[in-house]
Amino acid sequence: MAEDTNSMNICQLLIPQNKERTIYDGFIESLGQEFHLKIELPANRDLTFCRIHCDVNLMNILRGYLQIIKTRLQQCSSIPTFLEELKSIVYLAVKQNKELKALNTAPYLYEKLIQEIAIVKWDKVVEIDESFKKVKLKTVDGAEREHYITVHISSQYPNEIPECSTDLPSEFILLWNNSMTLADVIKQFDKVVERHQIFWNCLDEIDRSTWVLEPENPRRKDNARRIALGNNSSVQIIVNPLHPTHLPECRFLGADKVVKPLRDNMNKSVHLWNTSHSILHNLQALMEITFPSQISSKKEDFCLECSICYLYRLEGEIPDKVCEFPACSKPFHQACLYEWLRSLPTSNQSLTKYGFKNIYGECPYCSQPITARLEDK
Ligand SMILES: [Zn+2]
Ligand SMILES: [Zn+2]
Repeated sequence: MAEDTNSMNICQLLIPQNKERTIYDGFIESLGQEFHLKIELPANRDLTFCRIHCDVNLMNILRGYLQIIKTRLQQCSSIPTFLEELKSIVYLAVKQNKELKALNTAPYLYEKLIQEIAIVKWDKVVEIDESFKKVKLKTVDGAEREHYITVHISSQYPNEIPECSTDLPSEFILLWNNSMTLADVIKQFDKVVERHQIFWNCLDEIDRSTWVLEPENPRRKDNARRIALGNNSSVQIIVNPLHPTHLPECRFLGADKVVKPLRDNMNKSVHLWNTSHSILHNLQALMEITFPSQISSKKEDFCLECSICYLYRLEGEIPDKVCEFPACSKPFHQACLYEWLRSLPTSNQSLTKYGFKNIYGECPYCSQPITARLEDK
């Protein structure tokens, strides 16, 4: 009886399965891992002839220890010593297995990456996570602009191509073989950065000289700009990163009386677009105006709040609908104006074939006819 109490203390998860106490079943725990185990003794409980069944994981870990187990277990005289021996062998095996696993991956990779970073130079490293799975690198172009690339390192690196995320306006495709290093990543990244110089020159000129209403804080990858034209009107341009000096996609927003003449000027002279000039130069030449500049005006002059909700930005939208009646010219969010008009019995709604809902009614300020348009989601 004492013998079984002892065995229960050593291996609390191992339970006798029969009255004769020749079959034990349960779990053996070691270093936070649990393994399924079954021990069968012959009827005379002679330990020399015992059989051990264990789960695949434990089997794999014990593979190199089978002879040791056999010899040591045969020297045991009782079940408690037998279990104690088994537990210590499992402990050693699990411990060594963990050390081997760690050795095969991490330290080797750390060392390799540290060597690679030394070649790239540490001042290019912006961020590196504890496990070396993510390395963020910086490069500076000829115009002193900073560009970033984050390299995601897998445990199979360099045999597996590292995934890269960048702030480029176009997709970055890394050409890779397993003899390449982080220096090759930077080299290829630099080449693409070099190719986009004219793109950033054009957009930097716009950001510097005009009032960009959107995006609020342009990132290097952003190829769209909404430029203030004055009097609640603006033009949104979408630049092709691969052909930055070509005519961008243009969309005029604001009161018709302001934007129609500009749009007409542009349409009539579109053939005069000169790809050897910058986008800003071309836009101003074709529209025959000078955009409000950061020297001659304040941004607030163009960021007028919505006359319904009194906010400038509402769920990311800016008030881009303006009352067409010149003496009024109140700006509204399309959504605010839409809701306002919808609440009035005098307004009429219609659905357009492009997935927009139009509503016609009267301006809340001057009672002149006004239309609001909402995307039909
Ligand atoms: Zn509003
Ligand atoms: Zn009005």
